Amino acid sequence: MLKVEGVGFSVLGLARTGVAASNYLARHGGDVLASDPKPRESLPIADLHPNVTVVDSRNEVREGDIVIISPGIRPGSPTWKLAHEKGSQVWSDVELFYLLSPAPIIAITGTDGKSTTTALIGKLLESAGIHTYVGGNIGWGCMDGLDSLTKDSVAVLEVSCFQLSHCQALRPAVAIVTNIAEDHLDYYGGLDAYIEAKKRVFQNMGPGDRLVLNGDDPVVSAFLPPDGVQTLRFGWTPGRAAWCDRRAVHVDFDRCQLVLPLDELKLQGLHNAENVMSALVAILGRFVDFPTVYPALRGFPGLEHRMEYVTQVDGRTFFNDTKATNPHAASAVLRAFDEPFVLIAGGYDKGSDFNEFGKLIAQRTSAVVLCGATRHRIEETIPEGHPVTLVAGLEEAVQKAFELAKPGQRVILAPACASFDEFSDFEARGHAFKQWVHA
Ligand code: ADP
Repeated sequence: MLKVEGVGFSVLGLARTGVAASNYLARHGGDVLASDPKPRESLPIADLHPNVTVVDSRNEVREGDIVIISPGIRPGSPTWKLAHEKGSQVWSDVELFYLLSPAPIIAITGTDGKSTTTALIGKLLESAGIHTYVGGNIGWGCMDGLDSLTKDSVAVLEVSCFQLSHCQALRPAVAIVTNIAEDHLDYYGGLDAYIEAKKRVFQNMGPGDRLVLNGDDPVVSAFLPPDGVQTLRFGWTPGRAAWCDRRAVHVDFDRCQLVLPLDELKLQGLHNAENVMSALVAILGRFVDFPTVYPALRGFPGLEHRMEYVTQVDGRTFFNDTKATNPHAASAVLRAFDEPFVLIAGGYDKGSDFNEFGKLIAQRTSAVVLCGATRHRIEETIPEGHPVTLVAGLEEAVQKAFELAKPGQRVILAPACASFDEFSDFEARGHAFKQWVHA
């Protein structure tokens, strides 16, 4: 296990992950220097262990230190270069966690469905009485939970491509790749680098480990797992370890066999069937059996901002999927229901390709309301003749969508874009949406 006491660490960035890493390392006797370009009054000084040395208003790395780098620091940026020039190693908090964790790790990565799958696995393991820590990219840093773990616990970590870019040794006991689509191209500058980052989740896996891959995703299904890894695939094709026929999930691998009708689940939409499949294939036969986790699976409501039921207004049912921040996620929402609905989409422009999304809008919706910076770019991709309404902001979009929907129809916010043109983040957009729907 990694030695921390007396070792020098430079932590770059004092957001959630940096604070959690600094505190863990300081608590265990590490010599921690934490820096952040923000002025001192904007930093969470009060949340930090007294032994952490804080440098504000600039980034600093001590020569020869192990650097713990924030996922927000772009590859190739001046701060990234500083870390690689002066640090002896440059790690994400996930790598640090792996090197210190006594518990096996289930790592979940991919473009979409990570948080839902991570939370679901956490709930299922907990329901089976296993001491479980859920962390990583899901909204809080992973280092906070480390002290509570033993070898009998399980750590379920949502791992982003940014964190994987700075993992060298990481070897999860179980890894899931949910799917891979174009995303974060503004960060990576191309799809290839993004895919390479995702593949790091399984590069060190070997005999005894289990890798769960989306068998119908063109990129993920072509991955070549290392020798000896148990590789299980899920998807929409009979014969996979788990597959779905649109009405039920079928599981058939090792000694795990079951049929689970989707209408028994609280989780809504066919994309969530994929999340259920990957979660089950990750843990059945290894950590739990199906009858033990079935009640928790059945009752799992999903997470806020992901196909979240808002309310009914004059017979129209509103759903908040503000977390659909790219065309791939929003396309999954378009495919989630057989009945046409009214879609609200559009937002900040991160350079995504909307061509497929536009075609799908025409096939799956009765009308679409487009708002935000991307509204004209999305409009151009929708085949002529399909009802499109353009508005500037989300509040007006809610009103228009209500007018366009008939009683009995769904209205779904699935923007396919980030939110930064109008909101601070996707959560702020989701809260505003719910408030305007209720109003
Ligand atoms: P992530 O953490 O990867 O962003 P989430 O579980 O938060 O994943 O879901 C984000 C969005 O992606 C959801 O709001 C939904 O629109 C879409 N989504 C969820 N699961 C899937 C899936 N398996 N495939 C494609 N899209 C999905």
